[in-house]
Amino acid sequence: IEQAAFQNDKLAMLGKIAAAIAHEIRNPLTSIRGFIQLLNPYLAQVGKQEYGRIILSEIDRANEIIYEFLNSSKPSAPLKQKVLVDLLLKETILLSESEALMRGCEIQYEIFDPDLAIAVDVKQIKQVLLNIIKNAMDAIQDVPGEHRGRIAIQARREGTYALMVIQDNGKGMEKTTLNRLFDPFFTTKEAGTGLGLSVSYRIICNHGGTIQVESQMNEGTEFMIYLPSV
Ligand code: ADP
Repeated sequence: IEQAAFQNDKLAMLGKIAAAIAHEIRNPLTSIRGFIQLLNPYLAQVGKQEYGRIILSEIDRANEIIYEFLNSSKPSAPLKQKVLVDLLLKETILLSESEALMRGCEIQYEIFDPDLAIAVDVKQIKQVLLNIIKNAMDAIQDVPGEHRGRIAIQARREGTYALMVIQDNGKGMEKTTLNRLFDPFFTTKEAGTGLGLSVSYRIICNHGGTIQVESQMNEGTEFMIYLPSV
């Protein structure tokens, strides 16, 4: 739990830095925008009104990029709605199926309680599940030689929680990887960002849930997501 608090701090810090930088850039942009507008009549006098128009539209574009960046580094508070776990998982699997097919992975699905429901931000939880499924596909692809990839997804009730299990028969993880899994920017992939699981972790925490992971080198990995059931 201490580890979790630390990771959350790090992400919160990242969000704060992003916000601070964005603020420091936005203020000068606003003032540049204002002065360019004041210069417009002079630009018109010399037939260069077009320059003013380009400067304004480029400033607006920069502002948009800052806005997008802030949004992605600081996920918004969950917009909760009641949803059946069965439906949520089926929809998510459907989204993953074509990529799974392309990468030679079979996705198996089993639910033990079709009435199991949770109150969550559906978009955010789908994002978490897609992150984990994509990581499973990557781990399967990294197994050398002929390998029948399998991702098994299960859901069941565990006391007052809904438990979703995503298990793969990919390459598994070393202990050192397992220890740093949820650290922002930790990645073992050439083109990885290392943000998928840290953001997922925060989303699940924000929903009052937890994530647990078990992994065995050359055997596979199991992610367990617990969310309060309703
Ligand atoms: P990224 O996918 O960009 O590397 P993530 O935060 O999603 O970032 O994952 C961090 C690291 O955790 C990965 O680089 C990988 O080493 C490890 N990992 C995550 N899921 C699995 C899995 N199912 N099997 C093996 N390793 C995994």
